Amino acid sequence: MQAESRRREYLKALDIDCYTLRNGETAPGDEPVTDATDPADSVGWDDLRAQVAACTQCALHQTRTQTVFGVGSADADWMIIGEAPGQEEDRRGEPFVGRAGKLLDEMLMSLGLSRDRVFIANILKCRPPNNRDPHADEAASCRSYLERQIDLVAPRIILAVGRIAAQHLLASDAPVGRLRGSVHALPDRQLPVVVTYHPAYLLRSPTQKRKSWQDLVLARRVLRERL
Ligand code: URA
Repeated sequence: MQAESRRREYLKALDIDCYTLRNGETAPGDEPVTDATDPADSVGWDDLRAQVAACTQCALHQTRTQTVFGVGSADADWMIIGEAPGQEEDRRGEPFVGRAGKLLDEMLMSLGLSRDRVFIANILKCRPPNNRDPHADEAASCRSYLERQIDLVAPRIILAVGRIAAQHLLASDAPVGRLRGSVHALPDRQLPVVVTYHPAYLLRSPTQKRKSWQDLVLARRVLRERL
């Protein structure tokens, strides 16, 4: 299937009618993929991965099946940050692999991106029992891992998906509805953050998909301005 028709299919899955690339415009994400686990250029990654896998800094290590480090390209322009692993992620060791993850993949594909061309991580590397919200101390314990991932990836844009990710990243208690629609800066870094709804919320409230698409378009525009 041609890339363009595939992209249109993903847009359809998002309930977005269609958008057309302008003359000469190419969909983002056509760059060669770098495997985040490639040992040739990932000493920092290896150490970090080992630290996360062995982490006992908070009580969540007692209930996790395994840590969920993150996945994607080590030099991605886009970094997608969610909340925490759920049951399926805890079982498989990869972020966003459940139903919400499928929708996230569709959101990415609507931009011409795939999960191996972005980097996907969470605020927490371990699943909170029963998928409860992360506690402040858990997020604080995990923060240095996420910061290091941001250092290593050096993304050009961060897409924060959902309230927990947005509020932790931006040190805000505002709801997503207020945080979305504008460009924020990651505190202490010259790095733009765009907030959108969590795909799990979009599954429950599909009428919000249109707003989420607007957020993706905003993030893409910000990224292009920075290239
Ligand atoms: N929700 C998240 O925020 N992250 C995941 O990895 C899975 C579901």
